[in-house]
Amino acid sequence: MLNLSSRIEDLPRTSKKILPALKKLGIRTARDLLFHFPSRYEDFSNRKNISEIAVGEVVSIQGRIQKIKNLFLPGRRLTITEVIVEDETGRIKAVWFNQPFLTKNLKEEDIVSLSGKLMLRKQGTVLSNPAYEKIKTGETTLHTGRLVAVYPETSGVSSRWFRFLIKSHSRLIGDVSEILPLELRKKYALPEIKKALRDIHFPQNISEAEAAQKRFIFEELLLLQLHALKEKMRLKQNKALAVKLDLDLLKQFVASLPYKLTDAQRRAIWEIAQDIAKPHPMNRILEGDVGSGKTVVAAAVSLLAVQSGFKVALMAPTEILARQHFETLQKVLEKFDIKIGLLTGSEKKAPRNTEIIVGTHALIAKKINFENLGLIIIDEQHRFGVEQRARLVDKKEDETLPHFLSMSATPIPRTLALTIYGDLDLSILDEMPKSRKEIITKIIEPRRRNDAYGFIRQEVKKGRQAFVVCPRIEMPENKTDIKNFQQKLRLAELKAVTEEYQKLSGQIFPDLKVGMLHGKLKPQEKSLVMRDFQKRNTDILVSTSVIEVGVDIPNATIMMIEGAERFGLAQLHQFRGRVGRGGAQSYCFLFPTEDGQITRRLRAIVDAKNGFELAEKDLEIRGPGDVFGIRQSGISSAVLLALAHPQLVKEIRTEAVELLRKDPTLKSSAGLAEKIKEMEETHLE
Ligand code: ADP
Ligand code: MG
Repeated sequence: MLNLSSRIEDLPRTSKKILPALKKLGIRTARDLLFHFPSRYEDFSNRKNISEIAVGEVVSIQGRIQKIKNLFLPGRRLTITEVIVEDETGRIKAVWFNQPFLTKNLKEEDIVSLSGKLMLRKQGTVLSNPAYEKIKTGETTLHTGRLVAVYPETSGVSSRWFRFLIKSHSRLIGDVSEILPLELRKKYALPEIKKALRDIHFPQNISEAEAAQKRFIFEELLLLQLHALKEKMRLKQNKALAVKLDLDLLKQFVASLPYKLTDAQRRAIWEIAQDIAKPHPMNRILEGDVGSGKTVVAAAVSLLAVQSGFKVALMAPTEILARQHFETLQKVLEKFDIKIGLLTGSEKKAPRNTEIIVGTHALIAKKINFENLGLIIIDEQHRFGVEQRARLVDKKEDETLPHFLSMSATPIPRTLALTIYGDLDLSILDEMPKSRKEIITKIIEPRRRNDAYGFIRQEVKKGRQAFVVCPRIEMPENKTDIKNFQQKLRLAELKAVTEEYQKLSGQIFPDLKVGMLHGKLKPQEKSLVMRDFQKRNTDILVSTSVIEVGVDIPNATIMMIEGAERFGLAQLHQFRGRVGRGGAQSYCFLFPTEDGQITRRLRAIVDAKNGFELAEKDLEIRGPGDVFGIRQSGISSAVLLALAHPQLVKEIRTEAVELLRKDPTLKSSAGLAEKIKEMEETHLE
C-alpha cells in the first residue's frame, strides 16, 4: 500500500531513467514529490477556436488530428513532426523539431489540446513546438489549455514529467496533515494544506496559485523563526569562556593600525567584546558589504580572546583566502607577540602551539587539538553555521562552548536580518572606510574593446594593476561522475584562462607583465602567483573565478570581467569588490560575450552601488516565485523569501514569539513541533 513515506523507486511511473535526477533534487519519498514546488506558471488559459487565433498570440486550441507525419531532413539532421488539427471553425498546422517519437503517441483521429504561439512562416502560419496532450471529453487538461506549473530546471526531469507524476500520485495529498494552527490560517487567510498542495501544482487561476504559495512561504518562515528562537533559548543555557574586556589592550591595538577605524568598525568591536565577556556563548553575525573592513574587526576580538588565554580558530572558504587572512593577522597583530598558524589542505602537519589558527575546512577534517578554544570566526560562508561548530567541538556534557562569530557580505537590512537570523545577534558595518571612492562600472560593447585596453595600459603605466576574470565555464549537466566532472571543468577552465593569457600577454599587452591563476595550480603555486601580484611583479592577473571572494590587493584598480552575462549578480558584485580598496579611483569593466546580450542583470550591476540595492534588483529580476526554485541553496532561499515579504516576516516573527510564549514546548501544535525537531536533527548531521 502506497503512502506518503513510500520511496520514489516504489512508486508506479517513476522510471529508472528519472530516478537519479529526482534523487539529486532531494526527492526520496512520495511526500518529497508532492512538496516539490513549481517556480512559476505558464499561462495557457487563453482558449480559442482555430479560426480566431492571430499571429504572435499564445493560445490553446482543441481539435481532432487530421494528419500526422515525420519529415526527415538529412542535410540539416532534423526531423520535423507535422500535424494538422481541425475543429469546427478551421484547421491549423503544428510542428515539432527532433521529437520523432511523437508519432507513436499522437495518431490520426485523436483529440488533442495544443498550447503555444502562432508563428508566421514561409509556408503559412504554424504553431511551433506547442505543448500538447491527448484528451478525452469531460477530462481536465494537465499540460495545456490552463495555467500550467513550471518546475525549477533540472536535467532529466521535465516539468511535463513532474506534472504527470504529481498528478498520478495526487491521491496521496489526502493523507497530508495540516500543521499550521487554525487561528493563524484564519488570521492570514491561508488555504488549508491539502487545498494549497493541489492549488500550487494545478491551479485554476493565478490567485489560487498565489494563495497557495503564500501559505507555504508563511509556513517556511514560521518554522525558521520558531527554530531560531528555540535555538537561541537553548544556547543561552550553555556556558562559555568569558573573555576579559581589556580596554587598554583594545586602545593599543587601534592605535597600532595604519588607518583610522570607521565608527561602524569601532561599534562592531565594542559589541562583540561585550558579548564575549559573558559566560554564555556568543552567536553573532558580522555583516558588512565587500570591502567594509571585517577582517580587522576579527583581529581585534581575536586579540582579546588570546590575551585571556583562549585559542581562536578563523575559518575561510578557500585556501587563498585563508592564506590572506593569515598574513593580514600576522601584520596587524605584529606588535602583540601572538603565535598564529595556518592549516589548509596542503599543509602536511597541523602547526603546534598556536594561539590563533587560520584555515579552511581542513580545520574540521584534520581534527586538530582545540583545547581551550574560546572563539570561532567563520568568514564568508553561511553554510558553515551551527553544524560545523558542532563538529569543531566535541562537546561533552556541561563543558563550555566557544563563542561564535560569522562574517558575511550578504546584504540584508538590519530589521530583516534580525528576523531571518533569529538565533544570531547582529553587528553591521554600514559604512565604508573614508578613503573609498565609488567604483565606476561600465558595460563595454565589443567595438569599444580596444579603447578599454588602451585605458588599462594607461592605468598600469601609472603604477596600477588589473584583474581579468575569464568567463564562467558551463558544462553539460549529466554529472554522473562528480570527480570526473570537476576534472573536466578544471581542464576547460585552464584552456579558457590560458587562451586569454596568451592573447593578453602576446598580442594586447606584450609590453606588460601578465600573470595567470586557475584551479589546476597547486596551492603553493597559487600563492606564489598571488604573491607576485601583491608585490607588483605582475601588472595584470588573468584568472578564473577562484579569486571571487575576499582577495585583497589595494593597488588593483581595474576589474575586467569577460563573459560577464554568465555570472550571477552576487558574483559580479564580489568581483567588483576586489578593486576600489585603496584610495585610488577604480573601475569595473563588464565585457559581454561577442554574441551575448546586455541583460537586465548587467544593467543592474551598473546601477546598484551597494550589495543591498543589488539584492533588491536580483529579487526583482528573479521574481518572488523563483524563491522555491533556489530552495536548495539553503539560507539564501530564506533570505530571498524574507526580502520578498518583509511585512509578512515581521508579523510571523511576532506570531512565533507569541506561540512559544504561550506554549514553550509546542505541545498543542504537534505538527509544528515535529517539523522543528526534524530541522534540529538535520542541523546536527
Ligand atoms: P571585507 O569586509 O570585504 O572582508 P577587508 O577586511 O578585506 O574587507 O578590508 C578591505 C581593505 O580595507 C583592506 O585592505 C583593509 O586593510 C582596509 N581597511 C579596513 N579598515 C579600514 C579603515 N578603517 N580605513 C582604511 N582602510 C581600511
Ligand atoms: Mg573579507
